[in-house]
Order: sequence, then structure tokens, then C-alpha cells
Amino acid sequence: MSKIARRQFIQLSAVAAAGFLVRPGSEARAEDLPKLAEDDAMAQAMKYTHDASTVDAASRANPAPDQSCANCALVQGDETAAWRPCQIFPGKLVNNKGWCSVWAPKP
Ligand code: SF4
Repeated sequence: MSKIARRQFIQLSAVAAAGFLVRPGSEARAEDLPKLAEDDAMAQAMKYTHDASTVDAASRANPAPDQSCANCALVQGDETAAWRPCQIFPGKLVNNKGWCSVWAPKP
């Protein structure tokens, strides 16, 4: 397993573990959730930004083009909403035009 793949595996494992802590039926409505702040510690750890166009594509571990929250496998909710829930940041909304280092292509 490459160093990058191992890091992403660890990040996703932590998120999956956190998901078990959320009780079914306790989810808030998406529109009631707060927006993720770029200066949030977890957001900074994942290099989250509200604007994917500000990310140097050459600096990304995953070379797939045109990455944003809108086309990430981990985003949830209404595709037309500007802010949507994300499996990586439970309880917060991410910008549909945003990006973070955990971006994954939709299957
Ligand atoms: Fe956006 Fe995907 Fe990162 Fe969530 S995991 S912040 S949807 S790029």
C-alpha cells in the first residue's frame, strides 16, 4: 500500500468509525446544519476549501481532473443545494464548489 493510499485509508477509517457514533434518527435536517469553516481544525487537516478552483491540481494526491464536492462520492443531500452534508465532516455542510484532500470519484 502506497504512503498516500495508506493515509487516505486511515482518514476514511476514522470517518467510518465516527459514523458508528451517530445514532440512527438523530440526524439534523441538512438545512439546519452549520457550514463548515475553513479554519476548522478538521477542515484544515483535510485541506478543505470552499472554492476548489483555488487548489493547485498538481498538489493533489489524486490526479483526477475537475474535483469538487459536487462530484465527490462522499457528499450527500440535494444535488442542487449550494451547501450539502459530507460524510467526512459529520454535522456540517460543505460548499458544493469546495474540495478537500479526501475527494473520491463517484462509482
Ligand atoms: Fe468535499 Fe468530498 Fe471532501 Fe466532502 S470529502 S469536503 S464532499 S471533497
